[in-house]
Amino acid sequence: MPGGVTTDVKTYSMLIDGEWMASKSGRTFPVYDPSTEEVIAQVPDANTDDVNRAVAAAKAAFEEGPWATTTAQERGRVLFRLAEKIRQNLPMLAEIECRNSGKPIVEAEFDINDVATCFEYYGGLATKVVGYVNPVPDNAMSLSLKEPVGVAGQIIPWNYPLLMAAWKLAPALAAGCTCVLKPAEQTPLTALEMAKWFEEVGMPKGVVNVITGFGESCGSPLVKHPDVNKIAFTGSAAVGKIIVKEAADTVKRVTLELGGKSPNIFFADADFEAAIDGALFGVFINQGEICSAGSRILVEKSIYGKFVDAMAEKAKKIKIGPPLERETKMGALVSKEQYDRVCSYIEIGKKEAKVASGGGRADKFTSGYYVQPTIFYNVSNNARIAREEIFGPVAAVIPFEDEKDALKIANDSPYGLAAAVWTRDIFKAMRTVKALRTGIVWVNHMQPTYVEAPWGGYKQSGFGRELGPWGIEEYLETKQVYINLNEAPIGWY
Ligand code: ADP
Ligand code: MG
Repeated sequence: MPGGVTTDVKTYSMLIDGEWMASKSGRTFPVYDPSTEEVIAQVPDANTDDVNRAVAAAKAAFEEGPWATTTAQERGRVLFRLAEKIRQNLPMLAEIECRNSGKPIVEAEFDINDVATCFEYYGGLATKVVGYVNPVPDNAMSLSLKEPVGVAGQIIPWNYPLLMAAWKLAPALAAGCTCVLKPAEQTPLTALEMAKWFEEVGMPKGVVNVITGFGESCGSPLVKHPDVNKIAFTGSAAVGKIIVKEAADTVKRVTLELGGKSPNIFFADADFEAAIDGALFGVFINQGEICSAGSRILVEKSIYGKFVDAMAEKAKKIKIGPPLERETKMGALVSKEQYDRVCSYIEIGKKEAKVASGGGRADKFTSGYYVQPTIFYNVSNNARIAREEIFGPVAAVIPFEDEKDALKIANDSPYGLAAAVWTRDIFKAMRTVKALRTGIVWVNHMQPTYVEAPWGGYKQSGFGRELGPWGIEEYLETKQVYINLNEAPIGWY
């Protein structure tokens, strides 16, 4: 009964051990279209019982199932076939992603394309995992072998629902792990849609289990489960800290991609038009619901006033609209909770700084969680809107004196996910790249992300790296093997 349809409001099942099922409790919870506030689906409300079933299935699939004996070539082909299914169904997946998350359809299409690319990349990388011969000083052969880490628990956020699932599943499967994936409670639909193809593309039952539920009742038991060998998490810093503590009792491997308060730094010599565009794109893409949002815009004093004016003028023209309309550049925020949170930060901002544009609800809509692109200026780096992650379309524009001052402000943050610098001076650019304590630095751009390049943060933005060869490494153990080449006894006693 793959994702059985009932009425207009679809009731979905979840996938455990190759079976589509309800939660053991029989409870479901509603999933919304944040642009209309209407319920569009019901999904199973999984709790500890369901987590236990899913982990048992993943463990059996890892230890006894055919996945344990697949070759890297076979696993790669499964990923290629899944990628192909995704490409064939891109319009359907993009539309569901768009409706469920509130993001513009054009962006949802980019995301789904990236999902397929991610599975293709790791389909190829599966056969490039190699071991090593260690040059030990004895008549022995010493090897390092790469092996899958085992059962991976994967907890993901709502801002790029299917893409975050792909970032987690693709490297894990390429490595030979089995998975229990928990999508965010706000946006579980595309992961459930994709799971319908797992059997057809040749994934044995139990290899990927998709369970839908809330953080405390479903995510937390997954983190604590003794048979889960690794937790991969993307989400808020607050939850990341809980996960590290809860994973400690069973000494799990953990990778975390948490929030950010990423500086986007503009020197006076930058191309002005490109800079304004880059400042807006850096913070307002995906309604600002992006962990690497350039939410602190650092601008050299000599161009500060002109910069704020130009940004505000252009921000006012950004087309906010229904997510499914192709001209829409900003859709709705994902949920009521997120809308309230962003609006409350805007109110805090009004007490801490001055508003250049926006400043609240986009009131041409009678329903839906629409917020105007909001720009604050004369912001101190000590203000809450400059220190705390808002995860919405809110920019804090901060002036700086010179290069030294810019770098000091940029690095003065508990976070260290990403940063960007805009200048035509190569020496200044490279000094800045070197000085920034962040996992990602863009020069004269912000946000391009590629599956071939590493992604992850310094400081409280987390640890571990996703994507590229770094991403698969996080799902691999290293086994040392010693092969004695002396046939004689050791001769010690
Ligand atoms: P947000 O604050 O935007 O909801 P979260 O960090 O709370 O972001 O959510 C990211 C993911 O973490 C979601 O899948 C959510 O269900 C999950 N989550 C939330 N709380 C916990 C928790 N205590 N343990 C495990 N997972 C959690
Ligand atoms: Mg939450």
